Amino acid sequence: MNKNVIITGAASGMGLSDTKEFLKHNWNVVMADFNEEVGTQKAIELQNKFPNSKVIFMKVDVSDAKSVDQLAKNVFKIFDSVDVIVNNAGIFASGALHELKESTWERVMNIDVKSIFLMTKAFVPRMMTMRRGVILNTASVSGLYGDYNMAAYSAAKGAVVNLTRSMALDYGKYGIRVNNIVPGPTNTSMFQKNSKEVIQSFNNASPLGHIVEPNDIAKMAYFLASDDAKSITGQNIQVTAGFGIYSGQPR
Ligand code: NAD
Repeated sequence: MNKNVIITGAASGMGLSDTKEFLKHNWNVVMADFNEEVGTQKAIELQNKFPNSKVIFMKVDVSDAKSVDQLAKNVFKIFDSVDVIVNNAGIFASGALHELKESTWERVMNIDVKSIFLMTKAFVPRMMTMRRGVILNTASVSGLYGDYNMAAYSAAKGAVVNLTRSMALDYGKYGIRVNNIVPGPTNTSMFQKNSKEVIQSFNNASPLGHIVEPNDIAKMAYFLASDDAKSITGQNIQVTAGFGIYSGQPR
């Protein structure tokens, strides 16, 4: 029988790549995203390509408790259980702290951090009953270190790092593993909003000469979700093309 994964932010970028990777391994995928138009279209395309799996789009605002609760109700109408949750939806905001509007700070914290709290409350009790499951959170290399002009984002992703460890401690006894994928700069729409010059400067700054591709993240997500990773929990796994391995001293 196919296993079931729910992926937030699945309409684009890493979430869409994750969706394709799980489908290649015959999983059923709930693509949960705020962007209903794109998400529905992608789900139809992928369902045609992967007829042996179920691919279902569901609209959700991961920062809103009612919306996440409704998502859980809709998911449990179709599936008895969810094997894996990929908490991938996230937003970025630039600016030093004093420049940020209060509403921007709250939006980043709510979508990047509170969403994990809401998804956990909605889905994890069922996993605890089943005494198995995998949760994958998504931080950023900016959550491991400080970064210029990224105060809110860096703080939010830093919170995800420790949240992952605490979740792994609390849910381990239920057979639930919790890990955190820590991407470096990755070639998605979030990153492509940068100018050509900025994108080139990122490629130049990488020791490998390139940034991360969304498919690199998807391969790691599938590995961590699979039984091959049965002894890995509470970890912050970096997929960064070498960003974050440098002390920052001048060459
Ligand atoms: P993306 O913008 O391509 O995709 C994000 C998806 O999340 C979109 O489909 C969007 O509609 C959805 N989303 C946004 N707010 C939502 C909400 N409130 N409810 C439901 N869905 C919502 O971004 P991406 O680059 O694929 O980012 C995926 C994750 O990786 C994010 O958590 C991001 O912070 C993190 N990340 C990205 C990079 C990068 O360079 N791209 C680097 C490190 C970490």
